[in-house]
Formats: sequence, C-alpha cells, structure tokens
Amino acid sequence: MNHFSRRTLLFLLTPCPLSPIVMTGTPLNQKKKLACMNKTALDLRDRRAGFAALEAETFDLLVIGAGITGCGVARDAALRGLKTALIDSGDIGSGTSSRSSKLIHGGVRYLAQGDITVVRQAANERRAVRRIAPHLARNNPMVVLVRNALSQKKFQAGLWGYEKLGQVSENELHVSWDRDQLKAEEPPVAADEFYGAVVYPEYHTDDGRLTLANARGAAAAGAVIVTYAAARELIFDQDRVTGAVVRGTLPGEELGAAVRARLVINAAGPWVDNLRRLEDKQARSKLQLTKGIHVAVRRDRLPLSRSIVMSALDKRGIFTVPHGQYIYFGTTDTFYAEPTYWPEITSEDVRYLLDSANPYFNIEPLSERDVVSVWAGLRPLLGEEGKKPSEISRRDEIMEGPAGMLTVAGGKLTAYRAMAEQLVNRCEKELNLKPAASVTAEQPLPGGDFSGSLEELIIRVAGELGLTLAEADRAAMLYGREAFEVFADGKGPAAEAAHAVLVEGALTLEDYWARRSARAHFDENGGLDTLEPASRRMAALLGWTDEERSRQIENCRAIRRAEMRAMAGD
Ligand code: FAD
Repeated sequence: MNHFSRRTLLFLLTPCPLSPIVMTGTPLNQKKKLACMNKTALDLRDRRAGFAALEAETFDLLVIGAGITGCGVARDAALRGLKTALIDSGDIGSGTSSRSSKLIHGGVRYLAQGDITVVRQAANERRAVRRIAPHLARNNPMVVLVRNALSQKKFQAGLWGYEKLGQVSENELHVSWDRDQLKAEEPPVAADEFYGAVVYPEYHTDDGRLTLANARGAAAAGAVIVTYAAARELIFDQDRVTGAVVRGTLPGEELGAAVRARLVINAAGPWVDNLRRLEDKQARSKLQLTKGIHVAVRRDRLPLSRSIVMSALDKRGIFTVPHGQYIYFGTTDTFYAEPTYWPEITSEDVRYLLDSANPYFNIEPLSERDVVSVWAGLRPLLGEEGKKPSEISRRDEIMEGPAGMLTVAGGKLTAYRAMAEQLVNRCEKELNLKPAASVTAEQPLPGGDFSGSLEELIIRVAGELGLTLAEADRAAMLYGREAFEVFADGKGPAAEAAHAVLVEGALTLEDYWARRSARAHFDENGGLDTLEPASRRMAALLGWTDEERSRQIENCRAIRRAEMRAMAGD
C-alpha cells in the first residue's frame, strides 16, 4: 500500500469518475478457486433435494419471502439454533429489496419527528451493518444545500444533537461549507443560488447483495433455503397455520412440497396481503403500495463526488448518489395498485426526476438521452387512509393473524436487523423456547470478514488481482473479501457468473445480471454484452440447452427493453 500516494487514495475514496489506473502486483491466477471450501457457499442447483429438505422435518419457523426482511429473520433464527426454512417465489431479493435507493440511513431524517428512540436505533443499526459487512456500508456524504445563514445554523444544530444521540464517530461528524467551498467541492452545482451547504454521511449499500449476504448467513447457520418456490396455500391444523404448500416456479418444473412448521412468518413485502388472505379470506388490506423509480446517468455527464439533496418540483426530497462511473438519482413516490416484480416506468416518472434535478446544476440539462438505466420498486407501506404517498409513515409492524401466522410489514433496509431480532424474540416466546441472544450484530456476513479498512481492501484487491482501481472498487463493493476467490482464475462476467451459481444460489441469468453483479443498472448498455459469456458459463453449470440459454438471454433483454421504454418516448 505504501507506494500509492495519499492523493491516489483520496481520488479513489471520494467516488469520482475513475480513470483506469492499472495496478501492478501479483495476479492470483495460480490460486485455485475452491467454491466447495467456502463455508457460506449457497448452491441451490439440486432442486429435488431442496424440495425434499423442505418436507423432511417440521421446522420451528417457515419464513415466506426472501427479501431483506425474510432473510434477516431467517439468519437471526438459524443463528439462535431454530430449525428454519426460507422460501421465495422468485430469487433472493427479487422484490423491493433490490430496487431501493441503496442507502442505510443513520436516522437524521427522524430527528424532525422528535422520536429519539428511532434516531438512536437507526444510528446503532447503521454501525452494526458497518461492523458485519464493511463493504456493503461505505460512506456516502450527503450535501444539503442551504439558502441562508439561518437555515445552515438550524441544520447544524440538529446535526449536533443527532451526533451526540447517535454517538457518531469523530470522522463522521458533519461539516459546513460556504458558497466558495461548495463551488470548489462540487463544481456542477449551481452554487450561486445557495448560501452554502451542510454535509453529513449516510451509508451506501448494494441492497440486493446485502439481502443475499443475509440469506447465505442463514444457510450457513443451518437454514434450508429454496428459491423459485411459491407458497400457494397454507396448511391448517385445528385452526392454526402449521405450514404451507409450496410449488416450484421455474418453467417446466413439477416440484412441490408440503412444508410443516410450528410458526409461519409472512415476510412477502408488497405481497403480504395476498398471503394474509390465504389465512383469512376476509382479511382487509393493510398495505398501500407506492412506486419509486431511480434513473442513472454517466458520471462524466454529471461529475459529482457526493450525494446532492434536492427539493423536487412538488417539494419532496430527492437526491443523487454516486456509484462507480455512474450517478443515480430518485426517487418518485406514487400509489401503485397491485404488487408486481417489474412495476411500469412511465415517461412522466422520468421527466419528473429530470425536471426536478436540472435546475440544481450548471450543466447542459439532462434529458432522456442521458439516462443509461432506470429501475422501479414498490414500497410495502402500512396504509393510512387520506394521506399522500410521501406522507405515509415508514414504520414497520408485526401483526398476528387469526390462525397465528405472523406478518411483518413496512420494514426498511436500514433497520432490518433490529426488526428481525425483535421478531425472533417474539417467535421464541410463542414457541416457549428459552430466549437466546441474537448475534447478528456481531457475526460478519459473507465477504465482510476482512481486517483493515475497505480502502485497504480495494488497494489489496487491485494489487493482488491485477485490476484497475475502478475494477477493484467494484469488486470490493460487490464481494468484499471474497473478491480474491471470485477473480482468482480471471476477471469478467464468466467468473462472476460461476461464483453466482456455485456460491450465491443463482439459478437464472437474470439472478446474476440483475441482482448479483449490478450490471443491469451500472454497466455499459445495461450490461447486455455480458449476457453471452455469463450465460455460457451458467449453461455448463446448470445444464441448459442452447434453446434454454437463448431464452435466458431474451428474458434479460426484455427486462431491459421494458425498463428503458420510457426513454424511447413510446
Ligand atoms: P421484498 O424485498 O419485496 O421481499 C418480499 C419477497 O416475498 C419477494 O422476494 C417475493 O418474491 C416474496 N414472495 C411474495 N409472495 C410470495 C409467496 N406466495 N411465496 C413465496 N415468496 C413470496 N429502505 C432503506 O432502508 N433505504 C433506502 O434507501 C430505501 N430506498 C427505497 C427506495 C424505493 C424506491 C423503495 C421502493 C423502497 C426503498 N426502501 C429503502 C425500503 C426498502 O427497500 C423496503 O422496505 C424493503 O426492501 C422491503 O423488504 P421486504 O423483504 O419486506 O420485501
């Protein structure tokens, strides 16, 4: 590390667009990648064995839904020794948990509501994610623009209070800028409109991979996980829910299982009401879904180093987030009627974001032509009649149904671990078990077990694997310490796709492309060029015919076309 100048490091760590600086070092080509030696490897290829395992015993918990909520619960339960099964009708994280703004909030936003417990909890939880998965919790400075000295003072006072309450560490305290500093630090911002700024950190994560890491942690602790397995019916025993009938959802598959469990947890995110109605036909809807979209543009088009917090046309808060060579910004907040994996993205959604952001920057206004990717997700919010989407509280809640199924809804990425701990505490009571302490705040997630800082890891990855700094940055963010394993035999989509199948439970090309590699939204042309090499490697591992391989590629292309339709002006 000693031969990198401080300036090189700073350049790397303030996420500016990176020019490819080729690192020298000893590539690890000679190191053998032994996926089976990875103690947290999740290989889900043997579908028959997966369904058989679901039927082989009565579980303490059956968790339905492998989003961040369900994976967090399954990991905590399995680590406490509970016999746990986790199923999902799609892939791990294929619902909302791969479509968020990808921020772990520290609780500053809850200050205004005066809820000190929530502020403290958010700050604690953020620290916990940093501890167990430092690669999935990197500093992301938020620049709040202020129009006058009074606003700046007020915001500073709030942050001082927050920093005390949240025991924020010295190196993460806020700073204030005057207009000249704002101009110097973030040249694209139309600084003349502002008095200055206040800057404080949130953490940036990869939501899909944080979810996946929790699923792998659960499996490593003994949980049985089967993806592409939908709960179609619930099983009742004397008016109590005691399991679910599960069916395989991969095309052409005739697999199923009757899963028995002492407690069933409904963690189906936007779909929780559908499952509640399997328990009680009369159950009234609890959720109000709201859609949020994000758009990404190339970093050289909007060369920011940090997140800029903006006020949208309708005064809602929106913000930019730097991500490698890209900047994304969002989000919208509009009601959406029915749960779906791919909510429709309209040209109005995109226009709203572009029109809201453009006045903040001294650049040629961004247009649809600049948008390189876009994604949409549905917030599973607990409904509050008569309120606008952005006014509905983001609280979470555990609800018990008439036949004993526990539904957990409204949770966020940020507080997933605490919510899971609370739910598993309750499960232990319901099951008359001796309470066991949760260890999820201490036990590292897969890839998170490295010593030294993330910055040091990036440097090591670059040096030892012969990657450019930009490549090493991406590799460390995605894989943490496991980057050495993934790229031991060479870099590129084929190596990543093999790791996705052998270690990360991927069963389709979409699983690799959309949720494990970040390529669908943060790569040239939506990563379409990587589909060919990735699918060839996956075909060999998953036994696909040429026809099946083409179908897998076409599925990804169709997703990309649908997401980008709003940009074509259709
Ligand atoms: P999901 O991730 O949707 O998981 C539910 C799972 O249940 C799905 O995988 C689905 O396939 C499965 N399922 C459904 N029905 C069945 C069935 N019958 N059988 C089996 N499986 C089933 N939070 C933050 O903390 N920070 C942010 O920056 C942030 N930004 C956001 C931005 C947007 C636009 C949105 C939409 C949300 C954002 N959130 C954020 C909130 C956060 O992403 C969600 O609250 C969280 O991901 C919800 O996770 P979940 O596990 O409850 O739901």
